[in-house]
Amino acid sequence: MTPSSPTSVAMPRPLPILGIGVVPFDSYAEAVKCAEDAIAAGRKTFWVAVNPEKIHTAMKDSRLRAVLEQADAGLCDGIGVALAARLLHGRVVKRCTGCDLFFHLIARAAEAGWRVFLLGASPESNERACASLTARYPSLKIAGRQHGYFEDSQEVVRAINESRAEVVFVAMGSPKQEFWIAEHRQAIAAPFCMGVGGAFDVASGIAKRAPRFFQKTGTEYLYQLVARPGWTIGVRWERTLARLRFFGAVIRAALGGHGTAEPEGHCADGTAAERASTPSWPWQEVASQGRIEGTHGDKHTTT
Ligand code: UDP
Repeated sequence: MTPSSPTSVAMPRPLPILGIGVVPFDSYAEAVKCAEDAIAAGRKTFWVAVNPEKIHTAMKDSRLRAVLEQADAGLCDGIGVALAARLLHGRVVKRCTGCDLFFHLIARAAEAGWRVFLLGASPESNERACASLTARYPSLKIAGRQHGYFEDSQEVVRAINESRAEVVFVAMGSPKQEFWIAEHRQAIAAPFCMGVGGAFDVASGIAKRAPRFFQKTGTEYLYQLVARPGWTIGVRWERTLARLRFFGAVIRAALGGHGTAEPEGHCADGTAAERASTPSWPWQEVASQGRIEGTHGDKHTTT
């Protein structure tokens, strides 16, 4: 493990939310600084946005659970996880959404001169996202890009490595992007990889974010639930059900006294390597046996 540099900030110790570690970053600036440390140290890291649907899926999908456990930082991707942190740990955890952090990291990349690779989204969205980001940040170095509907992962990994990117954003939806990163993390030379869901669609202007009120109150998911084009009633219902089940599990865990005795503080080495200590959940034993296997082409649904 690479020691932290003298100017590095220690990453806050992750809090387990139903066994999945979520890093309680104080601000986007702190998250960016931690990412910066990993990049400066050349330490291979993999960050993931954590939301109720993802945790709910991980409760049943040992493969996803194994991947989330492997991630170096789980982001508090919305009010659902923040609320769970409050109920389980009595801690106020600020939201640090994958989409917002993506834009903060892009701004920092433009300043710091990091080489960035944008992998994912449709060919049109990927191209437009790159154009729009370079128009906004003329100094941004987009080392390479690739849409998310490719056949040969090895070729994509080769392209990433040949681009000498330091930061790789993967926008292929969840959990596909997490599986893809986990499967190829070792082969990808870039220190920093992060799954960013629909962020390229937002950057390209193809997807609209919720109005500011919903963004500010952390209720963007509510807006998406009602207004997002392309989601069938079945999808909307499944997402709602996943959230309800997630909160059911959180309330049961809080009433059962799970997860209240977590230490506060920071990880000494600036990573989330000191994992959140997790209570043993009924499904965890099975889940912990999960392996990260080849996932190319898979699309898992949140049910
Ligand atoms: N996507 C992709 N490859 C795939 C499936 C999806 O690149 O095989 C892209 C899709 O075009 C979209 C993004 O992944 O840009 C998924 O966005 P969404 O908002 O659904 O992400 P999530 O809600 O899963 O985080």
